[in-house]
Order: sequence, then C-alpha cells, then structure tokens
Amino acid sequence: MLPKKIVIASHNAKKITEMRRILEQANLEVEIVGTDQFPELTDVEETGATFADNAMLKARAVSEATGFAAVGDDSGLCVDALNGMPGILSARWAGTHGNDQANLDLVLAQISHVPDTRRGASFVCAVAYADPQGNEFIVEGSMSGTLIDHPRGTNGFGYDPIFVPTGHAITSAEMDSDAKDAISHRGKALKKFVAQLVAGK
Ligand code: IMP
Repeated sequence: MLPKKIVIASHNAKKITEMRRILEQANLEVEIVGTDQFPELTDVEETGATFADNAMLKARAVSEATGFAAVGDDSGLCVDALNGMPGILSARWAGTHGNDQANLDLVLAQISHVPDTRRGASFVCAVAYADPQGNEFIVEGSMSGTLIDHPRGTNGFGYDPIFVPTGHAITSAEMDSDAKDAISHRGKALKKFVAQLVAGK
C-alpha cells in the first residue's frame, strides 16, 4: 500500500528541492515532506561503505524516528582518474561537510595534470525506501560525463559547474532543472523509485 506521507531524509536544501520536484511530478497521492517538519531529527552518520548502504541508513533512521515512511538518498561524483574517488566522500572531500566550493577546487587541483582523453567521471545516486511496516528497497541511477578545468554555470550544486554530461556541450550547472532531472543520476534513481513504490502498492 502507498504510504500517506514520505519524509525526505536529508538536510541538504538543494537536494531536497530536486527530490521533491521529481517526486511531485510523479503525481503520487502521497504527501512529501522534508526533515524541517521534524526539528528534533539529527543528521544520520554516513558510516556505510557504499552509496546504497548510506542511503538505507538514512531512510531507516528517519523512518524509525518519525514513524513515517522515509526516502534516503546518497550520491556523489566518481572520477575515473582518481580511481572512483571522491565517491561516497564527495560531500566532505576537502574536509568540511558540505563545502561545495572547497570540494570542487580540490578535485580540480587533483586532476589538473590529467589530459582531456582521461577526464571521465560519473555521478551516482542510490535511493532507499524504509517504512514502519518493515518494507524496504533500494534503487540506483548514474550519469556519465567529463570534467572541465574551469567551472561554468550557476544552477544545481556541488560539482555541477565542472561536469559536462555525455552527449551535451554544457555543464549540468548550465542546464535548467527539467533538463538536468531528465538525465541525472538522481532523476533516474527517483524514477525507478516511483515505479517500484507504485508496483508494490
Ligand atoms: P550526500 O549524498 O549528502 O552524501 O552528498 C553528495 C555530494 O555529492 C554533494 O555534496 C555533492 O558534492 C555531490 N553531488 C551529488 N549529487 C550531485 C549533483 O547532482 N550535482 C553536483 N554534485 C552532486
């Protein structure tokens, strides 16, 4: 059965905006709320070894604490020339959690010597569902692309200004939100999420 309410298990305002936008477009008869409605909730520690582990940790913790169904997401940038890093450490790559500019500058410095032919990277997103009845599932999405040297664009967040999705000439920070949602790791994962939620109702 579809839950009446789903809590988005994140404190990242830009991610919540993207997730809410995509979930609301699916026209589920479900109320989507943020953790701002539950001020007593603290951040869930991301102690898992994979995106999927961390997404499920967030969904379970928020579902247990609120008594409602919860959706947790964990995402990051995997850079080929850095053996897949920053990966699950993307949000705190430069040391401070959520310092997007410092994280982006550090990745740029680390790949400054890497030639254009080896600039591949991908965004990955795992989305997990957990509810008080013990129903759980995880889905994933990814978006491949290449990294450029000089940031471009002001939409999106995080590493968007240096990421050019495969088949496009602009960065994901130069795309409008609909264009990014249509191809993004989070957009793809959330589409699978909605399909699975509806199939299990
Ligand atoms: P977390 O999922 O909250 O652990 O953080 C994911 C981190 O990965 C963000 O802080 C960003 O640095 C990066 N990231 C994830 N998705 C995106 C995206 O769509 N665009 C740009 N950066 C992203």
